[in-house]
Amino acid sequence: MSQIADSTTEPAPASNTDPTSALVVVDVQNDFADPDGSLFVQGGTEVVSATNAAIDAAAERGQLIVYTQDWHPPETPHFIDHGGVWPTHCVRDTWGAELHPDLRIAGPVVRKGTGGEDGYSGFSMRDVNTGTESPTELAAILDEHQVTAITVVGLAFDVCVKATALDGVARGLDVTVDVGASASVELTEGDHDRAATELTAAGVHLIG
Ligand SMILES: [Zn+2]
Repeated sequence: MSQIADSTTEPAPASNTDPTSALVVVDVQNDFADPDGSLFVQGGTEVVSATNAAIDAAAERGQLIVYTQDWHPPETPHFIDHGGVWPTHCVRDTWGAELHPDLRIAGPVVRKGTGGEDGYSGFSMRDVNTGTESPTELAAILDEHQVTAITVVGLAFDVCVKATALDGVARGLDVTVDVGASASVELTEGDHDRAATELTAAGVHLIG
C-alpha cells in the first residue's frame, strides 16, 4: 500500500473525471495478488479491493477500463533461472497468470511478455537479447477511444505500474497513478520511494 509521504501526493487532476480519461489496471494476477502466488507483492490482496473501487468509479463515469496481464512462456530470460532477475511468474495458461478471481472485469485485457520479452510496460515489450521493442495492443485501444489521460492502478507500483506510467507520459498522455490501489515489490529496499520520485519528476500525478 502507499508508503508515500503526504508531500508527494496531490488531488486528482480535473482530467481524471473526463470521459477521455481511461483506467489502466496493471497485472492484478494471482502470482502477484494471492499470498500463494510465486511473486506475491505485500499488500497485493488489498490492492484487489482498492482496484475494484477504482473500476467501479471509472465505470460510473463511463470511462474506458483496460487491463494488462503478464503472460510469459515457461522459459524466458525474464526469469532468474534463465538469466533474469525474477522468480518464475505468470506463465501463460497457469493459475498464477490468471487475473485475480475477485477482480471485476469491465473491459479489454492486453497481454504482455507473450513472446519471451520483458513486459514491464503495458504499452511495449522489449526483447531481452536484441533490445528490440514491440508494441502491445494498449496504445491502439486508447487511441481508438480518443483517450488523452490515464489513471494507472495495480501491481507492482515500483515495476510494471511505474513502467506503464512513464511510457504513458512518453506517449503524450496525462498520467495519474493511484498509489492507494497499488503496492511495491521492493526487490531492492527503497524501490518504492525511488519509483515515486521518478514518477513525480516525469510529471506523473500521484494520488491516494
Ligand atoms: Zn513478468
